[in-house]
Amino acid sequence: TPTIRLDRLLANMGYGSRKEMQALARHGHVLIDGEHVRDAEQRIALTPDLQQRLQIDRKPIDPLPGFCLMLHKPLGVTCSHKESGPLVYDLLPTRWRARDPAISTIGRLDKETSGLLLMTDDGALLHKVISPKHHVAKRYRVTLDRPLRGDEAATFEAGGLMLEGETKPLLPATMEILSPTETFLTLTEGRYHQVRRMFAAMGNHVVALHRDRMGGLVLPDDLPAGDFRILGDEDLKAIF
Ligand code: URA
Repeated sequence: TPTIRLDRLLANMGYGSRKEMQALARHGHVLIDGEHVRDAEQRIALTPDLQQRLQIDRKPIDPLPGFCLMLHKPLGVTCSHKESGPLVYDLLPTRWRARDPAISTIGRLDKETSGLLLMTDDGALLHKVISPKHHVAKRYRVTLDRPLRGDEAATFEAGGLMLEGETKPLLPATMEILSPTETFLTLTEGRYHQVRRMFAAMGNHVVALHRDRMGGLVLPDDLPAGDFRILGDEDLKAIF
């Protein structure tokens, strides 16, 4: 099991500077297994149960480095610092902005797309989820401006569709029709504005877009827009 200096661990989790963490511990605010840890320069083992055992002011501690969360992304919030408007990062506790390693989104959703967005500080996990090799299927509920024409499912499922301005044909995608203007579309790739552009190529227009699944991981009905949940090992396994 790797070990880390307690002051460094807490500083990396955004609680403050190392000096501040040493003072915090010295003044009795830091507990492990209910016991005061006064010397924050000591190394502690990064065991999986450390998060349950470590407390600040008897309150549970933030997730340890190497975590993943699912956010129910609301409409009107962006995944990119390059766009205007509120960011998905603003929906997390302020302290988390100071974390090192930093938290980033696993892929992106458009500003006007809602639903399941994963975020992590674990670079290896990020690459695994977005890597084409693992072909994690992403399911979208699509609301259309006009009724389906009838040939969309066959066209998407065949693969090979060429989007405007691109040189590589699309992989096959599966479609499940819910009504003349509503359908699920499941993709294994994630190109820029892909769903919107696929329906534009079919002469339609997407008026609402919501992601509800990634692999076997489902956005829970009881997770309101704007809220997030830390994933457990079972949730992570369900993605792949
Ligand atoms: N496809 C889109 O067009 N937008 C998204 O946000 C995700 C997939």
